[in-house]
Amino acid sequence: MEQKKYTLPELPYGYGELAPFISEEQLKLHHDKHHLAYVNGANAIFDKLSAARQTNADLDLKAILKELSFHAGGHILHSKFWQNLAPARKGGGGEPSGRLMEKIKSEFGSYDRFKKEFSAAALSVEGSGWAALACSAESGGLAIMQIEKHNVNLFPEHKIILALDVWEHAYYLDYKNERAKFIEAFWRIVNWAEVQKNLEQIYQ
Ligand code: MN
Repeated sequence: MEQKKYTLPELPYGYGELAPFISEEQLKLHHDKHHLAYVNGANAIFDKLSAARQTNADLDLKAILKELSFHAGGHILHSKFWQNLAPARKGGGGEPSGRLMEKIKSEFGSYDRFKKEFSAAALSVEGSGWAALACSAESGGLAIMQIEKHNVNLFPEHKIILALDVWEHAYYLDYKNERAKFIEAFWRIVNWAEVQKNLEQIYQ
């Protein structure tokens, strides 16, 4: 049996639509090259697993599963990230509302406090990684994750509702090594309606 493969999703906006916060050149490179590499990387491992199962061959599972976690995590987080953004003129930026804002205020004290913690988590990721806001399936509580690479420091049973890619490949063309400037730009194009939708799905 062949494992279902991943595909590169189309962006929900044009490559130039997130400018000036993310340039067309930066977004195209990030989506078409970097995200695609994780899709292809995961699919190549699915093929390898499938081939070995058909012939009952031995595998170095420790190495393969580590690599799969990296590539699958990369694909899944990037897919989430694109949905978490919207052009400023199509509703990107601003502040959350509704239940999401209520939960942020009740758990963090204020939206500004949440923004400060999330920004600090993103800024201080060691090497390449992500900041994410997740919701616990058990308690319904919100949690900020600081994910290294695509797959380290994740909490089980937490659904990610907002992800910010702070790998250098996400911003280097636009901001060089100034990750803090990219994080500031992110707040101008975050798609709160989408994050709210992700939260509501958990509470259905
Ligand atoms: Mn990336």
